[in-house]
Amino acid sequence: MTYPNTQLFINGQWCDAEGGRTLPVFNPATGTEIGRLAHAGIPDLERAAQAAQKGFELWRDTPANERSAILRKAAALMRERAPHIADLLTQEQGKPLGEAKVEVVSAADIIEWFAEEGRRVYGRIVPPRNIHVQQQVLKQAVGPVAAFTPWNFPINQAVRKMSAALATGCSIIVKAPEETPAAPAELIRAFHDAGVPAGVIGLVYGTPAEISNYLIAHPLIRKITFTGSTPVGKQLAALAGQHMKRVTMELGGHAPVILAEDADIALALKTAGAAKFRNAGQVCIAPTRFLVHHAIADEFAERFAAQAQALQVGDGLTAGTQMGPLANERRLAAMQSIVQDARAKGAKVLTGGERIGTQGNFFAPTVLSHVPLDADVVVNEPFGPIAAIRSFEKIEDAIAEANRLPFGLAGYAFTNSMKTMHLLNQRLDVGMLWVNQPAAPWPELPFGGMKDSGYGSEGGPEALEAYLHTKTVSIFNA
Ligand code: NAD
Repeated sequence: MTYPNTQLFINGQWCDAEGGRTLPVFNPATGTEIGRLAHAGIPDLERAAQAAQKGFELWRDTPANERSAILRKAAALMRERAPHIADLLTQEQGKPLGEAKVEVVSAADIIEWFAEEGRRVYGRIVPPRNIHVQQQVLKQAVGPVAAFTPWNFPINQAVRKMSAALATGCSIIVKAPEETPAAPAELIRAFHDAGVPAGVIGLVYGTPAEISNYLIAHPLIRKITFTGSTPVGKQLAALAGQHMKRVTMELGGHAPVILAEDADIALALKTAGAAKFRNAGQVCIAPTRFLVHHAIADEFAERFAAQAQALQVGDGLTAGTQMGPLANERRLAAMQSIVQDARAKGAKVLTGGERIGTQGNFFAPTVLSHVPLDADVVVNEPFGPIAAIRSFEKIEDAIAEANRLPFGLAGYAFTNSMKTMHLLNQRLDVGMLWVNQPAAPWPELPFGGMKDSGYGSEGGPEALEAYLHTKTVSIFNA
């Protein structure tokens, strides 16, 4: 199994960092070093910013239909190269190969949707108050973008930002995740091979804080977009505020899953129960807090634990693996501490709760019941394969519990009662609500949160709007 060293991509060229600094990349299933990546310094970042300005001036004037054709070609290349890219993704991130393939192929789907939607960025003509005046509202690309993307979906977190930026005529520098660098580099390669001109895209890796401090403050950078944890998002949004930069923030979540008294338990297990362990739970919209009506709570907990226990955990490259390792040692340590805290506070560990083996970052799929309200797992985003179950008496109590935390990203509900659905639609503090189904975040749907989960959207027409500014032009011509 080969794994490449990853370089920076600046001004249309793959290059090492000035000074040749590199960092190691580890396979989370084995703990072994599999490659290295270039670590950018300030001179590299400055070159990337200058190139992004040059790229922007070229790309914004490229007709939308030509940009669209190039993006569609990039989508085709991603599909063609999916087996190779998925293999790299599994080696560096750990997810099962099947999940990695879905990530790559859905990136192609995302690029295609934005390629089409980018052709429909319309302004408008507003009827004037004077017949000699023509009033226009124009939508123009905001300028060079700096994007910061995390390691849980190394391709998908980058592709939403890149597709929206490129579709609207912006250039973009991506600081992709240092822990999982090769797969996002292949995404950049696909755009480059499809014909995106030099400077329009840049790729850098290095010390995250150094890169964000430099690029957010840089006068040429006009927009910041970040996906990652809430604490880091708040820091970056504050910095962007100091420099009056536009911002999109996709931050943490702690998705409630509400099973009303009439919930279809089998459906909830097949959808939300299974999704809990996708990507070993390292998903911002992962179902995490299962709030179950007391009449069905015991049955649900028992069946959920049995389902979790039956999952095949192993190296993502091994056929039959349903859940891989955690992506890094930090998450493994976090899982151990979450379970210890819950146990000490009186929760029942129905299954899992422990590391598997001593090599690689494997942690058993874990289901906790009777979890008290002050347990770490129901207060902070677990971001791992741990589900917490609590029961409730009245649907209003479940809503209050769901809304108790500062997060507001995804929510799930299982009910066939119109009354309950309506109440949940109206009252749940979430950016996305999935009822009687798993999450289906298609590119045409807005994707984003509220409260501490951030602001802005990475799907639907709203995602393009985030990369456009609105200019009013009024022309008097007597
Ligand atoms: P972290 O908070 O240090 O980092 C989260 C992400 O932000 C990483 O990709 C990191 O490279 C980046 N980052 C950190 N400091 C930065 C800075 N100053 N400037 C720019 N980027 C910066 O924690 P971590 O251990 O990597 O991840 C753990 C937590 O992050 C999880 O508990 C989860 O809440 C959150 N997370 C969320 C998502 C998501 O999809 N929303 C993805 C990955 C991680």
